[in-house]
Amino acid sequence: MTSSTFLTQEAAAAIGVLRSALRGAVLAAPDPAYDGARRIWNGAIDRRPAVIARCADDNDVAAAVRIAREHDLPLSVLGGGHDWGGRSLREGGLVIDLSAMRGVSVDPRTATAAVQGGARAGDVVAAAHPHGLAPVTGLVKAVGMAGLTLAGGYGLLIGAHGLALDNLLSARVVLADGRTVTASADDNPDLYWALRGGGGNFGVVTAMSYRVHPLDTVLSGLVLFPITQGRTVLRGYRELIAEAPDELTVMTGFFGGPDGRPLLFLLPAWIGDQTRGEGIVNRLRRLGTPVTGQVGRIAYQDVLGQFDPSVVNGRHTEVRTRWLTELTEDSIAMLVTAMTRVTSPFSALFIHHFHGAAARVPAAGTAFALRRDHVLVEIVASWDTSSPAGAGGGSTHGRWARALSEGLAKHALPGGYPNLLGGDEHERALRSYGGNLARLLELKRQFDPDDVFTAVPALHPAMTGNLTK
Ligand SMILES: Cc1cc2nc3c(=O)[nH]c(=O)nc-3n(C[C@H](O)[C@H](O)[C@H](O)COP(=O)(O)OP(=O)(O)OC[C@H]3O[C@@H](n4cnc5c(N)ncnc54)[C@H](O)[C@@H]3O)c2cc1C
Repeated sequence: MTSSTFLTQEAAAAIGVLRSALRGAVLAAPDPAYDGARRIWNGAIDRRPAVIARCADDNDVAAAVRIAREHDLPLSVLGGGHDWGGRSLREGGLVIDLSAMRGVSVDPRTATAAVQGGARAGDVVAAAHPHGLAPVTGLVKAVGMAGLTLAGGYGLLIGAHGLALDNLLSARVVLADGRTVTASADDNPDLYWALRGGGGNFGVVTAMSYRVHPLDTVLSGLVLFPITQGRTVLRGYRELIAEAPDELTVMTGFFGGPDGRPLLFLLPAWIGDQTRGEGIVNRLRRLGTPVTGQVGRIAYQDVLGQFDPSVVNGRHTEVRTRWLTELTEDSIAMLVTAMTRVTSPFSALFIHHFHGAAARVPAAGTAFALRRDHVLVEIVASWDTSSPAGAGGGSTHGRWARALSEGLAKHALPGGYPNLLGGDEHERALRSYGGNLARLLELKRQFDPDDVFTAVPALHPAMTGNLTK
């Protein structure tokens, strides 16, 4: 098949203009690199954009935005490629691929990191580590720092330092009208507010400045329990996190063990006094009888590699999510029962702990609105299409995730974490913003009236009505 067999005239013309305007590579079928460039973390996503503009700098990004608009091509932004819904790729569209813009530099004097828009979380962690500093990131190093930050950023430093977005000091943004602006507390403060929770709806972020924190090692490690102890351990977890100081954040969940049977994990991160931390970790180990669990002082960057074996690129994945104020008896029973009946050995549950510094930010302080203590339940159905378990097809595994999400709905807060909601959960995405939705939609109308950036989550300028009241 040649490119001309499926390219519209407009797309073909745009490719020509991009090739003469950009410093970076412009990839379209049948270039050998095109197919690799359109592959993202979720192997179930098989979209064919017309062209992928691998931008080298801000000028490339601004030119790509302009060319997409002039040729009426749907635009999307590809950072780390970890959005499970694949919103970084649009069929027949123009992709602004930031994978060649991953530079990070850290200034230990000001404890800040200057980060290019395509950097992964691991790039920032690696650059900060030699200075005894650490950024607030999620759990997996390969996730894009901008994608993670723009809609939230739950991680193990949340209690002490908030969400990733609470640590964003400024951003450089290419807007829909082609202008490049800075957003910070002093410059374009409305845009700065909207970027901290509103996702990629307002422009392409080409650079960010983050606060980074003195942190060398943390007291951490995976403690694993058999699923038969699931209810008891989760009850103890509920009590432990209800009184956790800021220095302690504990994640829990389930994944498939070596024999295929699910295991419950606790992943604590303690960043305070060693003796006090050891007491807390010992309490955590006594919540059941662990099958294994080495907890000790480890480099923060090594804490983040722990889920790498279970988040392999290319498996097919469907994710569902719920925000719960706490783990009730009923929700604990649902989680354990669902994992007992899990349909794929690669499926997992991750439960993130939101508290401390993140919960003290006023709800209207950033577009991200849910500022009370809660747990974020992430239900990950994942299957390998080449294995016998995967041969059952996505519908079986996806149904498992959807059924658990529907069961938990009666205990859940409205909305859900926008970074994990599916494209079919639009109303929930809007509800996530609570009292901030009206301001967010107004800013969307101001900065992107033609809806050039359809992003995670989709906020269309024309949206009004009941949800904003
Ligand atoms: C394995 C895995 C682990 C995860 N762990 C965590 C976690 O611990 N904590 C957590 O909070 N979330 C976590 N997530 C969710 C993750 O934060 C989101 O999926 C996020 O959108 C991924 O960003 P990305 O750049 O990798 O993805 P992409 O698919 O490249 O981008 C997703 C969207 O983000 C926007 N975007 C990305 N970069 C830019 C930019 N520079 N400018 C403007 N818009 C941009 C665009 O709208 C884009 O379509 C995880 C996801 C996965 C798959």
